[in-house]
Amino acid sequence: MPTFVARAPVAINSLGDVPRRAHANEFSTRYWILSLDQAGRRSGGSRMAASQRSWIDSANDPSSDFPLDNLPYGAFKRGGASHLGVAIGDRVLDLHACAVSGLLHELPDNIQSACKKDLLNELMSLGSSAWGLLRNCLTSMLGDRIDESQRSRIAPHLLQQHELEMVLPAAIGSYTDFYTSIHHATRIGNIFRPGSPLLPNYKYIPIGYHGRASSILVSGSPVRRPRGQVKHAGNEPEVAPTNSLDYELEIGAFIGPGNILGQPVPIAESAQHIFGLCLVNDWSARDIQAWECQPLGPFLAKSFSTSISPWIVPMEALAPYRVPLAERAPEDPAPLPYLRSPSSSLDAFDVRLEVFLQSERMRLNDSPPLLLSASNLQELYWSINQMVAHHTSNGCNLQPGDLLATGTISGPANGSEGCLLEKTAFSLPISLPGGEERRFLEDGDTVIFRACANKEGCPRIGFGECRGTIEPSWAP
Ligand code: MN
Repeated sequence: MPTFVARAPVAINSLGDVPRRAHANEFSTRYWILSLDQAGRRSGGSRMAASQRSWIDSANDPSSDFPLDNLPYGAFKRGGASHLGVAIGDRVLDLHACAVSGLLHELPDNIQSACKKDLLNELMSLGSSAWGLLRNCLTSMLGDRIDESQRSRIAPHLLQQHELEMVLPAAIGSYTDFYTSIHHATRIGNIFRPGSPLLPNYKYIPIGYHGRASSILVSGSPVRRPRGQVKHAGNEPEVAPTNSLDYELEIGAFIGPGNILGQPVPIAESAQHIFGLCLVNDWSARDIQAWECQPLGPFLAKSFSTSISPWIVPMEALAPYRVPLAERAPEDPAPLPYLRSPSSSLDAFDVRLEVFLQSERMRLNDSPPLLLSASNLQELYWSINQMVAHHTSNGCNLQPGDLLATGTISGPANGSEGCLLEKTAFSLPISLPGGEERRFLEDGDTVIFRACANKEGCPRIGFGECRGTIEPSWAP
C-alpha cells in the first residue's frame, strides 16, 4: 500500500493570532507518514445494509470513488463528438448509447433526449424530478437485482474509464467565485491587515466576483504559467511570468434550472436550482493579483485558467452527508432575512477535501504525491444555498450549466489551508521529499485535489480528482 508523506506543523496557531513572518522560525515542523487509511482516502466504512450492490464488481470495492450510490455525470469524447456518461466503479456507462439503443425507453422523452446531447445543460435544465427518474433508472440498471438478459444488453455500453478522454461536462455560460470560508478569509486578511483580518461586510454578504468561463479546463489539461503586470517593492511595474503561482481548493456547484431575470430565488428554493458538485482549482497568480486588485478584481490573476473535475456528483448522492452549517459565533450578526434558511435545514456537506503535490523531480523519482492539506466542505461560513440566494437577490438570472464556486476552502487548524499563500506566508517553505522546497508552484508541479463523503453506515462517495500540471510560461 503506498504511503503519502504529509507535512503537518506541530505548533497550532489560533485564528486571529497568526504569527508575523518575522516570527516564522518559531514554528517547528515535522513530517507525518500517513497510510492511505489514516489519510482517510481508502477507509471505506461499512456500507448501509440496505444499500444495493452493483453487478459491476469494481463499484463494490470500498475504495472506489464511484459506487452505485454515487453515479456522477460527465462527458467524454467518442467518435468525433462527446457523449454523456455516468461513472460506476472503474467503468463509464455511455448514456447516449443507452438512450439510442432503447435502454431508457421507460423514461419520458425529454429525459431520453437530454441523454443524447453532447453536454449536460439540457439534463440540468429539467430539474430534480427528472434527475430522480433518471437516477432511479440507472440505479436499477447497474444494481445487482437486474437479470442476466438485461445485463447483457447494458454491458456493451460500459466503457473502461481509464481509456476515455473526458471533456468539460457542460457549456459553462457564466462562472462566479465566492469567498465563503471564514478560515481562509481570516488567514488571508491577517497577511494584509494583521489584527483585523475581516472587512466589516464579511458576516453580512457572501462575497463573490464574476470569474471567466472561457478558460475553465477539465482536469488533466496543462496549465500554462501566466505572464502579467507585477510590481515588486521599490521597482517600477514590469511584465513577467508570475513567480507566485498558487492553487485554490474549492467546490463548484453546477446550476440546474435557472431563474428568470428579475425574479430572485428565495433561499428556501435555492437547493432546487443546484444540479451537483465538482472539484474546482481556481489557479491564482498572487503577484499579479496584489498589483491589479487595487481596488477592483480579481482579474487577470485568475482568468488565465480554472480547472474542474470531470465528474459532477448529484445532490441526491450527497443527501446522506448533509449536516448543519457551522454555527455562527454568538456575537456574529444573524444573516439578513433573504439569506436565512429554516433553522432545521442541513445546508452544509460533510465532504473531506485533500490537496496533493507532486513535483517533476518527485515524478521522476517515483515519489508519490505529497498530501499538503485536508479540509472539509462543512466548514464554510456561507452555504451554497446562500450563494444562490445572494447571487439572484438583485434579480440576476442564473442559467443551466452556470458554475458557482465556494472560494478557497480552509479549516481552522494548521494543515487545513486551502492554498499555498495561507500555508507559507507565515511559516517555513514546504519541504518536499527529495529535498525541494516550495512557497509557490514551480514549472512541472502537478496539483491534485480529491474529495470524498464518508460516514459510518453510508457508502463512501468520491469526487474523482481535479489535476493540473504547470507548464512554463511562453516567450514574451
Ligand atoms: Mn477562488
